[in-house]
Amino acid sequence: MMKSDYGLTVLALAVIVMTNSSTSADEYLTGIEWEEPAIMEPHETDGPPSDAIVLFNGKDLSAWNNADNWKIEEGVMVAGGGDITSKEAFGDCQLHIEWSAPAPPTGDGQGRGNSGVFLMNTYEIQVLDSFDNQTYFDGQAGAIYKQTPPEVNAMRPPGQWNVYDIIWTAPRFHEDGSLKSPAYMTALHNGVLILNHFELLGDTPYDRAPRYAAHADQLPIRLQDHGNPVRFQNIWVRNIKPAQGKQVRAPFLRNAQGEERPAE
Ligand code: MG
Repeated sequence: MMKSDYGLTVLALAVIVMTNSSTSADEYLTGIEWEEPAIMEPHETDGPPSDAIVLFNGKDLSAWNNADNWKIEEGVMVAGGGDITSKEAFGDCQLHIEWSAPAPPTGDGQGRGNSGVFLMNTYEIQVLDSFDNQTYFDGQAGAIYKQTPPEVNAMRPPGQWNVYDIIWTAPRFHEDGSLKSPAYMTALHNGVLILNHFELLGDTPYDRAPRYAAHADQLPIRLQDHGNPVRFQNIWVRNIKPAQGKQVRAPFLRNAQGEERPAE
């Protein structure tokens, strides 16, 4: 198609669109007065967004409990000497965490680059060197341990950085301790979707079936020391909540003259 033809086509489309919008002028309105979404600065290529709680920025381990035995080497933290838990507690949240399996790799299966990210100190998404390393699928990197494998294996080779971006919906419990609604996790591994609103069956132990036990609304994030010097960097969390609004009237339609009537 010649350039001039293209211009004519765009013009013709514009006329059609304008005609359409003038013949169906009624606008649907929800009747909800939404609050303006907070304006925040999205992160640069490697920094946290402005409303994030930074758990590790390369400098110190002050955001963590039990971290005396974890080392900081060249701005990254290295697992060793027991699990660590964040001092701050979280419920529904967005978690960004970068990790790198030891290079050259040693061990195999669950013994190669094993760590883990436990949401609410209880629910593990597996950290493991799953690059050319066979193990049970619901125990490989990105698995909800013993519940589901990741949808795909997006692992980078040992020594390179892997990124988890996790959206966590905390479980809810009734007053009597029974489950009101389960936990859900959506996760991207190196930008690739590996868990899509996965409904957790409960906690993630090695030696029994998962189950829920009532706990607080907010609990720390735990990083596992599984005896392998897995490295971490750029860890930040955002508390999340749905957009806020109040239904102030029933949904309605408004025509071009500004007349309103109930929406069907
Ligand atoms: Mg683990």
